[in-house]
Amino acid sequence: MRVILLGAPGSGKGTVAEGLRSACGFPKISTGDLLREAVREKTPLGLVAASQMGKGGLVDDATVLALLRDRLARPDCREGYVLDGFPRNLTQADSLDALGLSGPEIVFDLEVSDEVVLERLANRRTCPKCEAIYHLVNKPPKRAGICDVCGTALVQRNDDTPEVIRERLKTYHAKTEPLVARYAAKGNLHRIDADGAAGQVIGAVRRVLDAAFGCPAGAGR
Ligand code: ADP
Repeated sequence: MRVILLGAPGSGKGTVAEGLRSACGFPKISTGDLLREAVREKTPLGLVAASQMGKGGLVDDATVLALLRDRLARPDCREGYVLDGFPRNLTQADSLDALGLSGPEIVFDLEVSDEVVLERLANRRTCPKCEAIYHLVNKPPKRAGICDVCGTALVQRNDDTPEVIRERLKTYHAKTEPLVARYAAKGNLHRIDADGAAGQVIGAVRRVLDAAFGCPAGAGR
């Protein structure tokens, strides 16, 4: 099963992907995480991405697709995965179809208002090492400023500033939102109200997956 998560920055794609990973065992494939890792490691693709990230626009399609193809080729993706942050425009959706991947595809649109996005991103802190996500009020780390998972000092992402958030929202509405109509026409889109608490949103997604495919609830790996 291939799950695609659509939604604005801050809609909770990463949190839902992590919830599905722990509940159903599907790896979370986040193109944002892959890009940040490539930038940190200064790989050739990372050097290209570094000059394009952090301003609120998109990284070029060829760079993102190259990273994604490598990741999907790894053995843990054989049974399925959750895509967080890809596709992000119509060209990327076409490229994904062109990969001719097997298995059913199901798409969720995490619907959230711009006000909720601004509040969530201002309070978001992330782990620069393992990419765990926290919210200062709703999901604070156990020790202030320290990642519960790996003990690294948490940071505010450099694109979580008010100006860059506004740009990212503009990019989302212009480039990514049209994908909602595309997948609705394809007949595999589920709209989820994502303004609520993380547990409720993950629960709503899992109910759809259970009904459609019998996601092995509780069989976390
Ligand atoms: P968010 O969903 O909160 O914006 P991500 O971590 O998914 O955060 O992405 C961070 C940045 O990485 C984006 O603003 C964009 O520049 C780049 N990026 C991530 N995924 C893609 C993609 N599929 N295509 C192009 N750029 C991407």
